[in-house]
Amino acid sequence: MASQEIENLASALARLPGLGPRSARRAVLWLVKRRETALEQLLVSMAEVKDKLVECPTCGNIDTRAPCGICADPRRDSRAICVVEDVSDLWALDRAKLFTGRYHVLGGRLSALDGVRPEDLTIGALLERVGAGGVDEVVLAMNATLEGQTTAHYIAERLEELPVRVTQLAHGLPVGGELDYLDEGTLAQALRARRPVG
Ligand SMILES: [Zn+2]
Repeated sequence: MASQEIENLASALARLPGLGPRSARRAVLWLVKRRETALEQLLVSMAEVKDKLVECPTCGNIDTRAPCGICADPRRDSRAICVVEDVSDLWALDRAKLFTGRYHVLGGRLSALDGVRPEDLTIGALLERVGAGGVDEVVLAMNATLEGQTTAHYIAERLEELPVRVTQLAHGLPVGGELDYLDEGTLAQALRARRPVG
């Protein structure tokens, strides 16, 4: 039987995506054996993330400043907005270095099953951004899942009234695939071959 402290940390880690109770316990053991090195570094990094990172009020990216580095970068094209479900998708797309515009993070996807409604996402803020003018193209870069595609269709419909070209990532994305897990080549190709919605 492990000590209460170990149990507490293991159950906290087990809540992380991709970690189950068993791997969480192994991670704790690994860290305990490296208290002065790896654990110390982890504590410093976690404190930095907690203290320094903020959500960009414009796009929803997470960065050390607001507006974020992407929104503040004058070299990026403000006439194109790429809409993604989560910040991890934004990072994945931006690693591919192909999209030169700006982003909009929805904060999830529409889901009847999980009770996620349009007002739970930042769709209203997106419509406001586009409605304010100066945007020529909205690229819908939802995951190739049923919920992702439902979300893309919903947003495309809402954008219909606005004078903006709406495109989405081409297929070639594996069905059921999540952007975050794709290699950069596949992502770059999907972005390059984006096409009008509908
Ligand atoms: Zn931003």
